[in-house]
Amino acid sequence: MGQLFINGKIFTARSETDFASGFLVEDGRISWVGDAGHLNPAEYAGAVDLEGRTVLPGLLDMHVHPALMADTADAVECLPPRVESVAGLVEALRSHPAHQTGADAWILGAGYDETKYPDGCPTAADLDEVSRSQPVLVWRADRHTALCNTRALEIAGVTDATPDPESGRFGRYPDGTLNGVLEEFSAISEVTAHMPQRTAAERADLLETVGKRLLSRGVVGVCDLLATTIPHPLETYRTVAERAPFPRTALFLGWNRPHDLNDLEAQETSGATRVAGVKVLMDGAYSNRTAWVCSPYPDSEENGLRTLSDDQLLAAADWARRNGVQLAVHAMGDRAIAHTVDLLGDLEPWLEGTPSVRIEHATLMSPELTARLAAAKMRFGIATHTIFFYSEYEAYAKNLRPEQVSDAYPVRSLYESVEALALSSDCPATAWSEADDVFVSIEAAVQRRTHTGAAFGQQAAITVPQAVLLYTARAARVTALPGLGRLAEGYEASFVVLDQDIFTVSAEQIAQTTVLQTWQAGDLVYSR
Ligand SMILES: [Zn+2]
Repeated sequence: MGQLFINGKIFTARSETDFASGFLVEDGRISWVGDAGHLNPAEYAGAVDLEGRTVLPGLLDMHVHPALMADTADAVECLPPRVESVAGLVEALRSHPAHQTGADAWILGAGYDETKYPDGCPTAADLDEVSRSQPVLVWRADRHTALCNTRALEIAGVTDATPDPESGRFGRYPDGTLNGVLEEFSAISEVTAHMPQRTAAERADLLETVGKRLLSRGVVGVCDLLATTIPHPLETYRTVAERAPFPRTALFLGWNRPHDLNDLEAQETSGATRVAGVKVLMDGAYSNRTAWVCSPYPDSEENGLRTLSDDQLLAAADWARRNGVQLAVHAMGDRAIAHTVDLLGDLEPWLEGTPSVRIEHATLMSPELTARLAAAKMRFGIATHTIFFYSEYEAYAKNLRPEQVSDAYPVRSLYESVEALALSSDCPATAWSEADDVFVSIEAAVQRRTHTGAAFGQQAAITVPQAVLLYTARAARVTALPGLGRLAEGYEASFVVLDQDIFTVSAEQIAQTTVLQTWQAGDLVYSR
């Protein structure tokens, strides 16, 4: 007979206005959805009364980094709003479970951001307050810098006399002695190479923890936009998904070492956990002025950085076409996006039903650029982020001229022009500890306000149902996640039950929304 769910306020995501009050689940799928008022629950054994609560289709985070989240899952989160000062950083690191457990145990943190600290830049001396006998290391929010204590430098054998590594730097006090700051990967790895290396089993355990966290956020489908941050990503993801509830996962492989990227086998590109594409980076980050832009940054002659040649972009597109998967292009600056459209826009799309090319972030898009991308022969999808201007407002205020704010994350015009569009978190690569909380991004999309309360391009605001569609039905257009994105006949019975009605609550209350339950293919996989 199936399991009946009744008495809910169910947003089906079939349109901006379609609600139902009940649905029937058979074999993990929705077999009926509609007005349940006339049904007699007594006829359905084990009918679930939703008690008037708001229900959404399971949420989809189409640009997130679960593998990277797993890599630092045993580090204390040192992001705002949890940590907003050097004193707070020291206190947070002291709460690490390894604190005072033995001289060899590393105390790890992730996500500091000294630009938001009123008490200055943290140094090794501050981390020595966490421990003098144990090594302590904390990654900066952007992961391009880390800070360690004196003990960690000792273990690594890095001294005041050690020369800087190639393309990296050891930070120093004015007198030339080391201050514990490790700039760029080559300097960070001089220290992290001395940390105990993880086994495949430990990595899988950490990824399982990340899966639980995502499901507790109501997220039932994800795209990992750089799965190759861990070795054997597909194998690791599949191991975890076989033994525990885990969001459906589409993996994107990094194109940074093209010669290592073998052609894919059919079984790698199919199933609930699969390889969906390859990712290239066209430019850097807007927040540190390395995004490739048309007109120079304020008070500067600089146009940012282009990080990919035409040949490399075309080679990656060719590999994606040959393997029947998507090409994901990280492009934040308007010049990076325009150049991608110049190069790929007239090519024949190679995938049906899903865009062959995804643009990641799309920070700066004028109406003309949006129209050009939408009209191209190539089918483009976009994964963008309202969490960026919300959490990193200080950087955007400095790097955007006032007249450019209207072109920054223009979600409303994208919503109207680009069918395959998603809002997403980029967690953990943005400076906010709650970045994977979908409701923070939805509030930012609706209110167009930053974490400081500043207004940010309010003409780009969208409504709550529109924002929810960008996490459900419209998100599912960006990369195929079969059966997800709607509560409709034939779709998977994957949905979330909320503690408040986000469609009627005041806009400044949206981010307070909590997921009470997450169901995946008819199974309750999270309950608060
Ligand atoms: Zn990312």
